[in-house]
Amino acid sequence: MRGIPLVDLKAAHEEVEEEVREGFARVLATTGFVGGPEVAAFEQEFAAFSGVSRCVGVSNGTDALELVLRALGLGAGDEVVLPVNTFAATAEAVSLAGATPVFVDCDPDTQLIDVEAAAAAIGPRTKVLIPVHLYGQLAPVERLREALAGAPVRIVEDAAQCQGATRFGRQAGVGGVAATSFYPGKNLGAYGDAGAVVTDDAELADAVRIRANHGGRSKYEHVVVGRNSRLDALQAVVLRAKLKRLAGWNEARRAAAARYHALLAGQDGIQLPAVLEGNEHVWHLYVVKVGEPGEGAERRDAVVEKLNADGIGAGVHYPYPLHLTPAFADLDHFRGAFPHAEDAADRILSLPLHPHLTAEEQERVVERLLAAVG
Ligand SMILES: *Cc1c(COP(=O)(O)O)cnc(C)c1O
Repeated sequence: MRGIPLVDLKAAHEEVEEEVREGFARVLATTGFVGGPEVAAFEQEFAAFSGVSRCVGVSNGTDALELVLRALGLGAGDEVVLPVNTFAATAEAVSLAGATPVFVDCDPDTQLIDVEAAAAAIGPRTKVLIPVHLYGQLAPVERLREALAGAPVRIVEDAAQCQGATRFGRQAGVGGVAATSFYPGKNLGAYGDAGAVVTDDAELADAVRIRANHGGRSKYEHVVVGRNSRLDALQAVVLRAKLKRLAGWNEARRAAAARYHALLAGQDGIQLPAVLEGNEHVWHLYVVKVGEPGEGAERRDAVVEKLNADGIGAGVHYPYPLHLTPAFADLDHFRGAFPHAEDAADRILSLPLHPHLTAEEQERVVERLLAAVG
């Protein structure tokens, strides 16, 4: 029997293959491999899709975050508040910009950043707050802004997992700034690394663009010390082809999530993912919790192992909250510091979810999951 992968990049490729080949031929004919008309067109199309005025394509999502922080002038001594249960890149970008990550716990139902904890972590050195739109739904940015109570703190959204998601009808970055990733497995994925910054702030977009292009707007102009983090033309071709299908693919993800919900509702020992009111979720990941709060990782690990042995690509996003990783050990946090994030890391598991998943495959996943949870 064919396995059921966590994501199916091959099925997505088959849909866009012809367009991608035609686009690659256009680029090969001109040999303009970095920047150029494909990149400019994608930037316009993704800005329009996102409902913002500016999009700056960059090399990856980590750079997108770091470039925004640098463009905002962050450096040594500045603090950035972010959730401890995120992909390492969010915190890496802060450290790479020279600032200090300040971790906070998450909400136990949605695993989104805890608003009260975020407010409590704001201090005199805090320059930025990074809500992470985890698993494909937006964090309650309007509540975070309210909780800041006028403190001079910028909100920089980590939108790597939520292309197309809305909160009260608006996407990430609208009226502010968001950094996103087009890593192949994201809802909008390139054929390699790519990322972007979306914003309505023209000055900030320009500051990001020059920092991603050796500090200038044109060749041999260097107004600040920048770097090389540009979007490649071949990646832009892929992203343009996939962007046309993204709304439909997100719709298919929503249908698949609803099917999991229906199949798993009321099952003992399985907690379903919660959706915040006002959110249109795009289900980058479908994450359930197994077992009871505080029971540790043993049962979950056994369930994942059994599913994988059955050919089902279940995963864990993410098995370690960042304060318990050696990379961030110098921040001096220990187990117990962020109880909700620690408990989630022990009990979460991600089921296969992608636009090409079939109802039969989902039934098999659920049957195997229920058997494994026992
Ligand atoms: C994927 C991801 C990133 C970083 O993206 P890369 O393109 O891999 O550098 C940042 N934050 C989150 C939450 C992500 O999932």
